[in-house]
Amino acid sequence: MKKIIVLSVLLLLLLPITSYGLENDYIDIGLKFGSQIDEVDLVFDKGMSFGFNSANNYNELLSFKGVSNITLYKDTTYSLQVKKSYKSIDEMSNDLEAIRKKGIEVYPVFDNGLYIRIGKYKSSSEAKSDINKLKSKVNGSLEVKEPSKTFVKIYSGKNTLFVYNTVDGRSLYLKSLGDYFQFSGKKYRNGLKIARYENSDLTIINRLRMNEYLYGVLPREMSSSWPIEALKAQAVTARSFAIKSRGKHSSMGFDLCTTTDCQVYGGYDSEGPISNRAVDETSGKLLYFGNDIANTYYHSNSGGYTANIKNIWGAEYPYLVSVEDSFSIGSPHSDWKIELSKDQMENTLSKNDINIGNIKDISVIDKSIDGRVTKLLFQGSKGSKVLERELPRKVIGYTKLKSMNFDVYKNSSVIVKNQAKTLTTSLKDKYIISSDSKKSKTKQNQIYVVFSGKEAKEISYSDADFTIHGHGFGHGIGMSQYGAKKMAELGYTYDQILYHYYKGTAVR
Ligand SMILES: [Zn+2]
Repeated sequence: MKKIIVLSVLLLLLLPITSYGLENDYIDIGLKFGSQIDEVDLVFDKGMSFGFNSANNYNELLSFKGVSNITLYKDTTYSLQVKKSYKSIDEMSNDLEAIRKKGIEVYPVFDNGLYIRIGKYKSSSEAKSDINKLKSKVNGSLEVKEPSKTFVKIYSGKNTLFVYNTVDGRSLYLKSLGDYFQFSGKKYRNGLKIARYENSDLTIINRLRMNEYLYGVLPREMSSSWPIEALKAQAVTARSFAIKSRGKHSSMGFDLCTTTDCQVYGGYDSEGPISNRAVDETSGKLLYFGNDIANTYYHSNSGGYTANIKNIWGAEYPYLVSVEDSFSIGSPHSDWKIELSKDQMENTLSKNDINIGNIKDISVIDKSIDGRVTKLLFQGSKGSKVLERELPRKVIGYTKLKSMNFDVYKNSSVIVKNQAKTLTTSLKDKYIISSDSKKSKTKQNQIYVVFSGKEAKEISYSDADFTIHGHGFGHGIGMSQYGAKKMAELGYTYDQILYHYYKGTAVR
């Protein structure tokens, strides 16, 4: 019994105290991964430092002040290592200089300890044959080191600056001595981690503090010219999302990527003073539902009603339900129209392995209470297919079919009757008599309300086979960004904006 108590006390002491969202929290963002790259150029504004960091501690291993351009390579050559380990770069520097003065290429290596290495050789035998020649010039015996799949080499021009083992757990952190570094023509804050994996060799990771990361996210997700309270609401959703999704790419050694797969991050270049202020003024603030950080999905424009997540992705969350959203009406994307030809639709469907022959009709067979289509029927000469939830957007294209809140109009299909016969025809070059008895010729891109005597039907006249009229842009779940903008303009604060879109949540 006594032992168990002692153990549980120890466990309590060992539990990490995580302070999510605090400005000192670090996050790792994958800048380049997956694809095979052989070399990486980096530019530092005031040189760089290699060290280890955890929480608020940074322990420098060595630095290169004033070296601004470096190239990272995979370790592909053999070398000779002096069999002597050093505690620090200071302790090593005399030995390093003495060898260098003899005209020999020499450089420090970190491989769970500091060592001196010499040269780059194409083969083991080539390296071995140099041992006798070098023996007298080196303080210690020499051994051949093979190229390693976990090592990277840092070059400055043609000189090897430093070589190290990137294996996880003891991976070094490469920190800018100035404010930023440049990778692939873009500036990023703070520093990097380099990792090597079989399926992602090399992996370039930007390590920076949470707020610094959010500075580079906010203007990419919402225009930094928008009102501050809307930007603050966006900052809280972006921070909550980052914390909630942290570690999504842990198999490749980082937390989040820079694209819409996670959330778009543009680094230092995309920052703006107002959006940075929105991040600072909400520092550490997250959106909670009960004790859990909320899933803060957001979209461009709700079109008048937000979506219940259940009808889009199938999952259920009490705070991601449909809310009436007049704030989104009247802004960009709140009304849109696309035209589709039968040919286009047949191609699109067959590309998605839906083969139902010639398209006859597209019709909405079910809608949710917020006006979003939940079942869309495609009828063809060889069969029919129902696409549910958000699948029609995936098939037709997320930017083409902007939202699931739409109606489909089949064109060229009015039935005209006179005493003699019934004719199915299009509205092209027809005369219509309106309810106030005015006669006019049909105009393209117009919708006409036609009464059959029993019911009214909207008919669109265009050259396309189908016209889709819709509202809003995006999946419709959670915060509408255009709605948030309007709310901020009307004087709502960022927390009021969040509480409107995420029911029953709390900012803290
Ligand atoms: Zn991602």
